[in-house]
Amino acid sequence: MAQNEQNNDLMEKIVSLCKRRGFIYQGSEIYGGLAGTFDYAHYGLALKNNIKNSWWKKFVDSRRDMYGIDASIIMNSKVWEASGHVAGFSDPLVECTKCKRRFREDTLKEKGKCDDCGSPVGMPRQFNMMFATQIGAMEDSSTTVYLRPETAQGIFVNFKNTVDSFHPKLPFGIAQIGKAFRNEITPRDFIFRVREFEQMEIEYFVRENDWHKYFEYFKDEMLEWMESVGIDMNKVHELEVEIGDLAHYSKRTMDFEFEYPFGKKELFGLAYRQDFDLKNHGLEYQDEENGGKLTPHVIEPTFGVDRAVLAVLLSAYNEEDPERPFLKLKPNIAPVICAVSPLLKNKPELVEKAEMVFGMLKAEFGRVAYDDNGNIGKRYRRQDEIGTPYCIVVDFDTLGENPDLLDTVTIRDRDTGNQERVKISDLISKIKEQM
Ligand code: ATP
Repeated sequence: MAQNEQNNDLMEKIVSLCKRRGFIYQGSEIYGGLAGTFDYAHYGLALKNNIKNSWWKKFVDSRRDMYGIDASIIMNSKVWEASGHVAGFSDPLVECTKCKRRFREDTLKEKGKCDDCGSPVGMPRQFNMMFATQIGAMEDSSTTVYLRPETAQGIFVNFKNTVDSFHPKLPFGIAQIGKAFRNEITPRDFIFRVREFEQMEIEYFVRENDWHKYFEYFKDEMLEWMESVGIDMNKVHELEVEIGDLAHYSKRTMDFEFEYPFGKKELFGLAYRQDFDLKNHGLEYQDEENGGKLTPHVIEPTFGVDRAVLAVLLSAYNEEDPERPFLKLKPNIAPVICAVSPLLKNKPELVEKAEMVFGMLKAEFGRVAYDDNGNIGKRYRRQDEIGTPYCIVVDFDTLGENPDLLDTVTIRDRDTGNQERVKISDLISKIKEQM
């Protein structure tokens, strides 16, 4: 199979697995969908929450210099005027002269040609990507508000509040996880480019002279976190954005690209935003160390949650054995850490014991499944496909048919398929060891 076909094939497999196994559905599907929107189902949501929690734990909870915020999605329009988004948050839009379809100019497969019919496209014009809506009962320009296109500004506008409440010393950061909205001209590639997505962002405030040091520091922290959630680091590439291509506010930006099946594309970014945003909002910091006021400079690590989910899924997908494709998800982020089954579901004594084991593990880990559908082989395959690291089976030996094995269960490892007998009382510590 040609490389291209293989890549399309892989994306199709991931999209189909996500739908079939309850990870991700198309948005508004029963009405034909809505382009650029997706709904996370039970397992996809669990995966996404685990990714977000792991991020929050590393970048906020385990540190002393980071403060969280959960700002409103709708903000005063003056925020977006000051940030430059009203005037300049746009992409170059081109229209096909024949079929009239519209594209983002810089994503055309062939420069100047329509992706669909190959006809020439017209001259580009700038298209603002913010979703505008009206607030209140009146409809005029004074009531126009925007759904935020990034979480960053929600952090900057709370800079003064955070300083007043917590009196942090420089350097310190403010972190936010939340939704962002962009009216993308051509949403595509599943959850890679969507119109409603989530970001995890940090604005880290430093003294100007320290920016190099913290840029390097966060670069390493970002790489460490990517590895910890199971992103295939052989497919991650650092791209230093060239001076001429830098956003107007940035003096240095690094993109972390991932080798998606549809090409090497941006996964996350790291930018030195200088003092651009705080200056625009007229915000300063009272410097106790040297007396007087200063405007801190900013290092911004930014992560797209949905792109992280996709990179994790692609990294985990394993079909070395085509009969048994599985998601090699790390135990810390797998939607289900273990599944418990009775060997047979029509034997009440097995079911009772399995329910007991399930209850014990559920109380400890939360993300535990009880699975008695179909035969054991089918259950294993289903759990493999959703990436459950361990399957636990209660059998007749558990009940004491072999007295030496009383109160033991089998625990099967997803990656090797090997089974081991473990005492029920040791299960929790055995699983915790792997997390
Ligand atoms: P791109 O060049 O791919 O459009 P960008 O450079 O505009 O991305 P940023 O403005 O730096 O992206 O946004 C920060 C992060 O938010 C990105 O690294 C990405 O992970 C995520 N992101 C941006 N746009 C989208 C989108 N339309 N769908 C999903 N995630 C997105």
